[in-house]
Amino acid sequence: MYQNYDVVVVGAGPAGSTAAYYLAKKNVKVLLVDRQDFPRHKACGGALINCRKWPFENYIAIKEELRSCEVQKALFYWHKKYVCEKTVDHLFDQVKRHEFDNLLLEEAIKRGASFRRFHVKSITPESRGNNLRYALADDKEHIIAKQIIGADGFNGVTAKFLGNPRTAYGLCQEYDIVCDKIDRKSRFFFLWGRELGYAWIFPTFEGYYAGLGFIGKTRKRLRFYLDDFMEYIIQQGLIPKHHTVRKMFGGPDPVAVVPNYCDKHIVLCGDSMGLVSQLAGDGIYYAMKSGKIAAEAYKEETMEDYGKLIKPVIDEVSLFQKIPPKSLGMFLARLILLAMTRSHTAQDLVFKKFFMRQ
Ligand SMILES: Cc1cc2nc3c(=O)[nH]c(=O)nc-3n(C[C@H](O)[C@H](O)[C@H](O)COP(=O)(O)OP(=O)(O)OC[C@H]3O[C@@H](n4cnc5c(N)ncnc54)[C@H](O)[C@@H]3O)c2cc1C
Repeated sequence: MYQNYDVVVVGAGPAGSTAAYYLAKKNVKVLLVDRQDFPRHKACGGALINCRKWPFENYIAIKEELRSCEVQKALFYWHKKYVCEKTVDHLFDQVKRHEFDNLLLEEAIKRGASFRRFHVKSITPESRGNNLRYALADDKEHIIAKQIIGADGFNGVTAKFLGNPRTAYGLCQEYDIVCDKIDRKSRFFFLWGRELGYAWIFPTFEGYYAGLGFIGKTRKRLRFYLDDFMEYIIQQGLIPKHHTVRKMFGGPDPVAVVPNYCDKHIVLCGDSMGLVSQLAGDGIYYAMKSGKIAAEAYKEETMEDYGKLIKPVIDEVSLFQKIPPKSLGMFLARLILLAMTRSHTAQDLVFKKFFMRQ
């Protein structure tokens, strides 16, 4: 027994739910599938950067209901050394991903998208008369799609089907901390532990997230750096001594766009195409933006316009087409930080690249 859809969207994260929302709005027969039941946990800092300006109807619709912590101030450090800070009307809202993603999914369903739990294990092209169709299968059954949007995250099955190797990625790990808040400042410690990446403190509505993410092979296990960071921020009074660590979680964060993200009937969005800011490492905004663009590119016979429409977004996230060796990355990061210690223009440029998304 199988069902036929114009489009099957694989993965119901921000990319998939946004694509499904906008496709349903165009009256396309769309099925959104995810291997997990919702609400589901997703390892993430939950910072919706510059989200007051996000032009996504589904986000605007859930905003009131979404619990968040608004952040206006960011302090930048070079390892432990303070570099500069910036206060603006709004930098980001911090949210819990299980709530955020679930509300976005509900919004796509309200718009007319169908949803079901389904773990896509294989994709097989099939000829039906003159038409090409795709069978998406789990262990028991299959679903037939005319076209597919792969929004199945880092190293997903759809990206592999398009022939992509695993793209470059960084590894992140963080603590979800419940406590009274000392302040609502976000803090970024670049090159923490002399590794390529940064550690962060984000205020949440229940306390803080303290985490870090590094690119390339680290000298010690990630957990070592995270615990060292926790000890430091407690000792510095940046989070209270009396707190509860509710959870520790982590995962990979892509840092480069995959080579094949669009063919005639299959496109990739969000993490599945590696669409993450190479400087800041955030990907929620780009996931939603690419989902919206995929829906815009949809035509009954093809989605190949996506390749052209997504190009400016790829340019926006990319500093390098190919991730340079770690030694060069460290050199460049030190150069940028040195410039920031000496020049307000350098600080403004980095802040802009870090926080402006629209
Ligand atoms: C620790 C960490 C912290 C981060 N912090 C931030 C931050 O603060 N702000 C920010 O903007 N970004 C952050 N990011 C990046 C951000 O989480 C991602 O860029 C974003 O989640 C991408 O959304 P997506 O919809 O493309 O993929 P995802 O959110 O990963 O969703 C993919 C979905 O696909 C489903 N799926 C996968 N395979 C299959 C399959 N075979 N069949 C069916 N379903 C499948 C999964 O279950 C999942 O629900 C962080 C990442 C990490 C790892």
